[in-house]
Amino acid sequence: MSESVREIVARPAAGGTARVRGWVKTARHSKGVSFLEVSDGSSFDGLQVVVPPELENYESELRHAGTGWAIEADGELVDSPGKGQRYELQATRVQVVGAVDEDYPLQKKRHSFEFLRTIAHLRPRTNTIGAVLRVRNAAARAIHAFFQERGFVWLHTPIITALDAEGAGEMFRVSTLGAGESDFTGDFFGRETFLTVSGQLEAEIGALALGNVYSFGPTFRAENSNTSRHLAEFWMVEPEMAFCDLRGNAELAEAFLKHVIRAVLEACPDDMAFFEKRIAPGILENLQHVVDSPFECLTYTEAVEILDASGRKFEFPVKWGVDLQSEHERFLAEEHVKRPLVVTDYPKGIKAFYMYRNDDDRTVRAMDVLVPGVGEIVGGSQREHRRDVLERCMGEAGLSAADYGWYLDLRRHGSVPHAGFGLGFERFVQFVTGMANIRDVIPFPRTPGSAEF
Ligand code: ATP
Ligand code: MN
Repeated sequence: MSESVREIVARPAAGGTARVRGWVKTARHSKGVSFLEVSDGSSFDGLQVVVPPELENYESELRHAGTGWAIEADGELVDSPGKGQRYELQATRVQVVGAVDEDYPLQKKRHSFEFLRTIAHLRPRTNTIGAVLRVRNAAARAIHAFFQERGFVWLHTPIITALDAEGAGEMFRVSTLGAGESDFTGDFFGRETFLTVSGQLEAEIGALALGNVYSFGPTFRAENSNTSRHLAEFWMVEPEMAFCDLRGNAELAEAFLKHVIRAVLEACPDDMAFFEKRIAPGILENLQHVVDSPFECLTYTEAVEILDASGRKFEFPVKWGVDLQSEHERFLAEEHVKRPLVVTDYPKGIKAFYMYRNDDDRTVRAMDVLVPGVGEIVGGSQREHRRDVLERCMGEAGLSAADYGWYLDLRRHGSVPHAGFGLGFERFVQFVTGMANIRDVIPFPRTPGSAEF
């Protein structure tokens, strides 16, 4: 393997030979010399390759090289007289590995994100999507590092599940039955199964054995919401902690978000500089602010009072007992506190049955983390660990104890207070990059009516 462009530009000084292999981002051909900016995906900027006409294939090939061509170049690494780059490669040999046909769609400079979605096989080669994918990778790595450093065990919760988890969203059925067949006892698993909407309930099993666990993997929701914040397939990070209450849960969420943001800023400075310049001016300062300041904390009841007193006309009026809409969440985060905030203790009627019931019997120990620009990014709670209360809450929610025997079992055998949350990974990537549409922060988006590849 040859050095990556990222490694080459990190060399302490010019001099010596280098080999670069990648794709031409831009080509400039002037009299007697050609400049090819070659990107291999390892960093935002490519390496400028200076191609002299003395090369034997200059006239026949290199003079015609353009965007998208795959090449391998050897040469001398020299200080670049041009601005915006430290080094350039003075080529002594350039081999064309793969030219592009005339109809290569990325020839022109700027394309809309809508258009790029129609060429999902090529869009990772663009500046924006390349930067997104590197940030995504850095964030995923930081997520694992955060939990691993704290001794959390990565629990691989199932993708195919028989739980119709808490009604978190509409589910995709997994079945090998033919058309018209509906007897699930004859189905592959002998029962009805789905793609998971959340690994939480299985994570609780893990936490009550291993203490602190997290799941990080794909989740699926067949909700027909064609919004800029919903995908049918998305990744979720779900830590679950035994011997933990809502406060510990909120503290973990704050430390976690700050850690991952910091790690992305550190690992991807060039990509982040691009988002600052081209996608979301001000984002670097906002993220630094998030990292540096403590999260605000409000109860749902306080939040509703603030929204009420704001004098703001919302599309959906607020009153105690109704769920906060995105416009409310964003008002609170963007205008009221101007940084992330944790809203806790929601009315029981709008939250899942498994959340710890407060003494007032009207609210539960739920928490959502709301951030400027996105709204809800994390949803979590302390779980109800008292068997009698849980059974009562399940009854109120119309759930049969028979279907949740194992879940109730966990409350009979060594039950302890426990808590956890779910972070939508793509919402997080949206938050740190400032990308407006969630379809542009995942390599292969799945949305109603659309699944390419
Ligand atoms: P929303 O109200 O925004 O639909 P939710 O209340 O259904 O979210 P949860 O069930 O709490 O979400 O899921 C945990 C997290 O997963 C959310 O905070 C959000 O970040 C993310 N999330 C939920 N649904 C989607 C989706 N369809 N696409 C991408 N991320 C999602
Ligand atoms: Mn939802």
